[in-house]
Amino acid sequence: MIFNKKFPFKDVPNTLCFTCCHVLDDHQPILYVSHDKDGCWQFLCGQNHSQEAARVVSLAEILNVDKNISKLAGLKRGEYAQLQDNKRKWIVFKKNL
Ligand SMILES: [Zn+2]
Repeated sequence: MIFNKKFPFKDVPNTLCFTCCHVLDDHQPILYVSHDKDGCWQFLCGQNHSQEAARVVSLAEILNVDKNISKLAGLKRGEYAQLQDNKRKWIVFKKNL
């Protein structure tokens, strides 16, 4: 993979992250982004999910799906963000665990 200096995330573009079939296959907007304590990223549609709905992609791929998430490149480990649909604004929360 070609290293892109403009890549907004600190993680390398081929970092694996989780998304769901709704985002990847059904092109639902990403409404929930989590940067887990262990460094994993999750980009989900905001619905409840069964395990079969999970999909693994690279950061570069998910950024291609929804460029809007580049705004969350600075999300720290242990934080998650939800898109307030009516305001088109990301609200960042800290995880308790
Ligand atoms: Zn989903």
